[in-house]
Amino acid sequence: MTIPAELLDTVAKLRAEVCLLHSELTRWGLVTWTSGNVSARVPGADLMVIKPSGLSYEDLTPESMVVCDLDGNVIDGEHAPSSDTDSHAYVYRAMPEVGGVVHTHSPYATAWAARGEEIPCVITAMADEFGGPIPIGPFALIGSDDIGKGIVETLAGHRSPAVLMRSHGPFTIGRNAKSAVKAAVMCEDVARTVHFATLRGPVQPLPQHHIDSLYERYQNVYGQRPTA
Ligand SMILES: [Zn+2]
Repeated sequence: MTIPAELLDTVAKLRAEVCLLHSELTRWGLVTWTSGNVSARVPGADLMVIKPSGLSYEDLTPESMVVCDLDGNVIDGEHAPSSDTDSHAYVYRAMPEVGGVVHTHSPYATAWAARGEEIPCVITAMADEFGGPIPIGPFALIGSDDIGKGIVETLAGHRSPAVLMRSHGPFTIGRNAKSAVKAAVMCEDVARTVHFATLRGPVQPLPQHHIDSLYERYQNVYGQRPTA
């Protein structure tokens, strides 16, 4: 399989976008050394663009991004793709509405994952972004479909675009790569805030009807209205 000629421009743009989005992971302190990865689905094809494996963040270039099919096979690129490629590919195969996937070991979110404890929805910002608690996914080892399956099984039918894979760390999804990156940033932010809150005693989840109306408003009303 090669990249269809009519998609070459799209793939070039996505390579640049996915490369640039990796700088958000370092900017927000979500990654250490070469850990963490962003991918984007190529609209109109069973392809994705993902970070190469083992390259330093400062050495990432649009050209170094790897194009894979949705079984994780390399279609175009000079480097081996991220070791998490199979997990990203599984999510794209199972969730057609997903256009971007992000994985990090951001410290506060990963601390909740280490405890196998979901992050309770105790602040309005969480209700806005996640529509409830951030759930824990099953423990799964890299090297099979288990991580991808765990992500999909946990997030299917869940409002949260983030899952904390037990004893591993967060995976986030979005309609595109940028929204998956935003979810990763917000996930770490609320993981930290709620962690601090719990240090001072028990926390109280927001009542469900408040969570529902906050989520509804933020997802549908908040922000700049598109101008005709
Ligand atoms: Zn990982």
